[in-house]
Amino acid sequence: MIIKKLTVGAFASNNYLVICEDTKEAVLIDAGGNYRATEDEIKRSGASLKYIFYTHAHLDHISGDRELKRNFQLKTYLHRDDKFLVDKFKEQLSMFGMQEVESPIIDEYINDGQELKVGNLKFKVIHTPGHSPGSVCYLVKSSLFSGDTLFADSVGRTDLPGGSYERLEKSIVNKLFALDENIKVYPGHGAVTTIGHEKQNNPFFGLNSRI
Ligand SMILES: [Zn+2]
Ligand SMILES: [Zn+2]
Repeated sequence: MIIKKLTVGAFASNNYLVICEDTKEAVLIDAGGNYRATEDEIKRSGASLKYIFYTHAHLDHISGDRELKRNFQLKTYLHRDDKFLVDKFKEQLSMFGMQEVESPIIDEYINDGQELKVGNLKFKVIHTPGHSPGSVCYLVKSSLFSGDTLFADSVGRTDLPGGSYERLEKSIVNKLFALDENIKVYPGHGAVTTIGHEKQNNPFFGLNSRI
């Protein structure tokens, strides 16, 4: 498995290109814009992009959708509880004063516990509401793509439509901190971390923060 981090757009969101080395099939975790840089990276890697898995439907994670869909034969996946944010895509753009781009098209709405295959890789969907109602994390082998749910030494904001700090806390403590401590966490913004590091040090939940 190859993971390439692409930091894109005005909000510096991390998109990850994940490639199955056996089959060269690839998935993009989130598509936040700068599709040309993303396309170049895909071409360089020699992989064939088959899917986009969205961690949630905020514009800094979904606004590169249409260009990539035009240029690759790919399917897009999003948790159903974020459908309302896709429907409100234009409102999201105007709320942040962003340039008009076409609304994304979601091919499949997914649920907690679902397994998605990319070549020989299996991605497990973990529903982690809080930052948005349909936020999910994707677990593949010992890598977790955490979107805007869990960051290195931080967590996602919960003041946007549908956000809930109570739900975010439950998602992180009950679902993510229950995972193996060695699992690497690839967040939607900022640096890569591990479950173990966040359990100990995250100022919102870390054990050290309670002393
Ligand atoms: Zn977000
Ligand atoms: Zn974001």
